[in-house]
Amino acid sequence: MDFLKNTLEEIVIKKVEQGFKDNPDICQSLQCKKDVAVLILNKIKPRYIISARGMLHQAANTAEQKRISKEIDSVLPSALKQVNEHRRPNFDHSKTSGNLMDSFGKKERFTMTDGFFINFPFFLGEVRDRTTDEIISDVKVSMSANEKILDGYDGNWPNPYETSDKSGGKFAFWPKSIPTENDQAHPENFDFKLIFESKKYKTKEISFSIELEPEKFTVNFVRTDYSKDMDIVALDPK
Ligand SMILES: [Zn+2]
Repeated sequence: MDFLKNTLEEIVIKKVEQGFKDNPDICQSLQCKKDVAVLILNKIKPRYIISARGMLHQAANTAEQKRISKEIDSVLPSALKQVNEHRRPNFDHSKTSGNLMDSFGKKERFTMTDGFFINFPFFLGEVRDRTTDEIISDVKVSMSANEKILDGYDGNWPNPYETSDKSGGKFAFWPKSIPTENDQAHPENFDFKLIFESKKYKTKEISFSIELEPEKFTVNFVRTDYSKDMDIVALDPK
C-alpha cells in the first residue's frame, strides 16, 4: 500500500478548531466541525506527500505554507456560516466533546491489529560541514535499532537515506511498525544508531535510546506530533 497523506488536513483541522472558538455563537457540535473541515478540504487544492523527500520539501517551503494558510483563511468564514445555517438534520448536535483530529478519517489512518505493535516516530535531521556550516549532500545515513537495520514504511521511505541539495541536507526516517510480544503496560527500550558515511567526510555514529509503548494498531500516516527532531549533525572533513 502506498503511503499518501493530504498534508492540508492537519492545518485545516487546526484552523477550523480556532474558527469555532472565535465564533462561540454558532453550533459547536463535533458534527458541524467535521462538516466545516470537509467543506474547506473540498474547496482548496489538495497537496499530497508521498515520500520522505516530499515531506522535507514541503517543510522547507515556507512560501507554500503561507499560501495554504491564506487560502484556508479566505474560505473559513463562509464555510462556518454555511454549515451553521444548514445544520445536518438527523445528526447529534449536542455532542461537542471529542477531538476533531481523532474523529477525522481515523479508520484509514490506523489499522487495528490482534496483537501489539511498535509504531516508530518520524525522525528528522540535518547534516552540515563542521567547518563551513554548509549543508552536505551525498551523505548516506542509515538507521538501526537494537542492532537491526529498520525497514522504512515503504519504498518512499528508504533506509539508508541519501541527503541532497534539494532537501537542504536533511534526512528523514519513518520505520515500518513491527510486531511485539509485549503489551501496553510494558514499554520497550530501543537503542537507535545512525551512521553517516560520505566520500569527503569522516564516518560518524550517533546513538540514542527511546522507550516506545506497544499499541494495538499500526499507523498509516506520519503523526507529526510524534516525531523526533535531531540536532544538526556536524561532519568533519576527511
Ligand atoms: Zn451542529
